[in-house]
Amino acid sequence: MPFVDEKSRLAFARAQKFIPGGVNSPVRAFKSVGRDPVFIERGEGAYIWDIDGNRYLDFVGSWGPLIVGHAHPDVVAVIKRVAERGTSYGAPTEVETVLAEEVLKAYPSMDMIRMVNSGTEATMSALRLARGVTGRTKIIKFEGCYHGHSDQLLIKAGSGALTFGVPTSPGVPSQIAATTISARFNDLEGLREIFAREGEEIACVILEPVAGNMGVVLPEDGFLQGVRRLTEEYGALLIFDEVMTGFRVSYGGAQAHFGIDPDLTCLGKVIGGGLPVGAYGGKRRFMEQIAPSGPIYQAGTLSGNPLAMNAGLTTLKLLQQPGTYESLASKTTRLAEGLKQLAREAGLPMWVNAIGAMFCPFFTDVPVKDYASACTSDVERFAKYHRGMLERGIYLAPSQYEATFLSTAHTESDIDHALEQAREVLRTL
Ligand code: PMP
Repeated sequence: MPFVDEKSRLAFARAQKFIPGGVNSPVRAFKSVGRDPVFIERGEGAYIWDIDGNRYLDFVGSWGPLIVGHAHPDVVAVIKRVAERGTSYGAPTEVETVLAEEVLKAYPSMDMIRMVNSGTEATMSALRLARGVTGRTKIIKFEGCYHGHSDQLLIKAGSGALTFGVPTSPGVPSQIAATTISARFNDLEGLREIFAREGEEIACVILEPVAGNMGVVLPEDGFLQGVRRLTEEYGALLIFDEVMTGFRVSYGGAQAHFGIDPDLTCLGKVIGGGLPVGAYGGKRRFMEQIAPSGPIYQAGTLSGNPLAMNAGLTTLKLLQQPGTYESLASKTTRLAEGLKQLAREAGLPMWVNAIGAMFCPFFTDVPVKDYASACTSDVERFAKYHRGMLERGIYLAPSQYEATFLSTAHTESDIDHALEQAREVLRTL
């Protein structure tokens, strides 16, 4: 049957009249894969359906949060139950503490945590805290890492900013841009030079311990340890942005996997169970500086709202079932390795980085270990691959520079199905 997306086309045309680019977040527009987006009507488990009735096996999972799949019955039930008692009070509720304790148990680097509403808010607030407690202004981030869209972090950023070729956005004041120093991922020597030059002015280093916004890029042996040592040596805070990797690389995130003890950690996505959420936490001596216990200000009308807290808590409980992460990792490895093998059979170059429940196939034979090597990917080929997969019912993130996410809802036969479709598509490239 030919692929029909007539209703999606109409919906997109209408949306474009009233919403910039027709979407409320840039990557959703599918621009870089050369077609219009499909409009989604519902999701269940590992599948989503568009408004034309096409069904897709979903490897986006709302960009990470849906690690237990769409509309998990337990998550839906708790949301319904909670909503009936009111959606927000702007007053403390017990579930905020319960979720805080649950997260802190899994992330021993954190003594305290503050809930916010998005990953952007989490990293922005963590930077303010780092600057507040050190009395320093400059920050170091890594090229190709994305930490949300606050001014100071939209410098050489990944994700949509990289996809659309605007890694540094107009509208960011040059005075603010000048406080952000950009370093190369996996280049400890480069970082050391920056510290040697201006170490006394640096408030913090922020990074995705596994970069997931320039495709997936793994830290090389010793890199994270080296970053930890340098920050300690110069009295700068180390901030792990685990918005994507938290509860995905492992239950304890990348910090548990690699055994690193950052000063501050940012979370989001999974801990909201599909509702808007973010969080930042860390050592007590820093976190106590946040208002109202300290002078560093940060607030939020809907922060810690009962819907997101309960959806997140229920998701974490589901993830605590024995074998969850072994199964996620084994499905991820099978899909990642399978794709590599199929690309080889089709005579195509492909480099694959995978960890936990995330991976990325790059259309290149250059080992991908930083922004520059990620950029060796053939994005035209990726675009063709993406379109082919979409029309065969496999929903992938519409950019070479995004991760593919697995969920507990994906079955072994879903993986087989995805590989069968990939075999057909890769042959045509
Ligand atoms: N940090 C990382 C590592 C992310 O992947 C993202 C979003 N993909 C963010 C921060 C920003 O989160 P949000 O989109 O919720 O603002």
